Amino acid sequence: MAKEENLECSFCGRKKSETDLLIAGMDAHICDKCIEQAHGIVEEEIAESKTGNLSKELILKKPLEIKTFLDQYVIGQDETKKAMSVAVYNHYKRLMQVSDENEVEIEKSNIVLVGETGTGKTLIARSIAKMLNVPFSIVDATVLTQAGYVGEDVESILSRLLQAADYDLVKAQRGIVFIDEIDKIARKGDNPSITRDVSGEGVQQALLKLLEGSVVNVAPKGGRKHPEQKFIEVNTKDILFIAGGAFSGIDKMISKRLNMQAVGFGASLEEDKIDEENLLQYIIPSDLKSFGLIPEIIGRLPVLSYMNPLDSETLRSILTEPKNSIIKQYEKLFSMDDVTFTIEEEALNYIVGKAVEYKLGARGLRSLCEAILTDAMFELPSSEEKTLAVTKDYAESKLTKTTLKKLRAAS
Ligand code: ADP
Repeated sequence: MAKEENLECSFCGRKKSETDLLIAGMDAHICDKCIEQAHGIVEEEIAESKTGNLSKELILKKPLEIKTFLDQYVIGQDETKKAMSVAVYNHYKRLMQVSDENEVEIEKSNIVLVGETGTGKTLIARSIAKMLNVPFSIVDATVLTQAGYVGEDVESILSRLLQAADYDLVKAQRGIVFIDEIDKIARKGDNPSITRDVSGEGVQQALLKLLEGSVVNVAPKGGRKHPEQKFIEVNTKDILFIAGGAFSGIDKMISKRLNMQAVGFGASLEEDKIDEENLLQYIIPSDLKSFGLIPEIIGRLPVLSYMNPLDSETLRSILTEPKNSIIKQYEKLFSMDDVTFTIEEEALNYIVGKAVEYKLGARGLRSLCEAILTDAMFELPSSEEKTLAVTKDYAESKLTKTTLKKLRAAS
């Protein structure tokens, strides 16, 4: 066995006297400097393998494939599905381009969706994230306030995304954030007072930083409840932001603009016949400005699209057609108890009729079905009965006036 003073690091050959620490293994020794160096290599390798894996994990499809995928989950809304497919495709193409100073730089294609609540804005964003296999988080713009005020700082948006990515920074930096109710941070009134408007223009200014792409210090657990936590630097350059809002009242602004144009240019009436029922289809960025979004924010949300209101035909399709439609979910639930569940066409139309009559929208379809089927779901698992055929009469008998009133109040 080697004498104590003859021991040396088996990696770099340093003598024991030249090191601060020499650790013995089975037939070899390693010094503190080599340990540090090896640790650095391990960290680098792990980081590299994560980035490498990510491009493998990222499932990039062509716009047509993206749209076809969306068709499985989202009924109608064709224009928006198309616009989203192109925007998402371009966004990920941008991520894959090798950075070269002389190259044309592709800008980010953040998106803003305008449409009534319950028309599928979140559903589209969620479906896209599912398809691409990237972290996805939803934040509600109404809780955001300027830093220092009661409410959440804008940076909390990124805390959520980090959580959704299991704190994998590389993944989070390529995620998708859906900012719901963006219309609620519109400037209130015509007076652009930044100091007073803590939940309006101030928030828009703060949000701008994220949308533009910058390095932001993020408290991983979010909020101000954990003052001891270390900040993580998140670069928002490659995060896709999708904003959504109902922008209620914007139809009047669109109508006003359209009428002014019609008078101003004296265009032929036939050509310019306006579909008063669905004014959102004519939306342009300046309407968002009239509503109270600052021009800088609008500029950072270059893809603007709209959602059509859901008519009874669409509601009827939503009940049964999507891949995980409400009715398919009930079929599955009942089949787990060996119960064959069927529902006749008339009953489906009855449900749609009630959703329209009570203005319950797509979300109401689920509550209506729940009200109709709760008794059966309670009783059948413990009974001998193995079929449930829902007729219109059955549906009608289960839906009392009180239930409907409650549903309307809750919607
Ligand atoms: P929004 O974000 O516009 O308020 P959501 O996307 O949350 O609306 O829609 C609410 C629910 O209504 C969804 O979970 C979905 O079940 C249903 N829904 C709404 N629109 C559609 C649609 N176009 N196709 C299929 N389901 C829809």
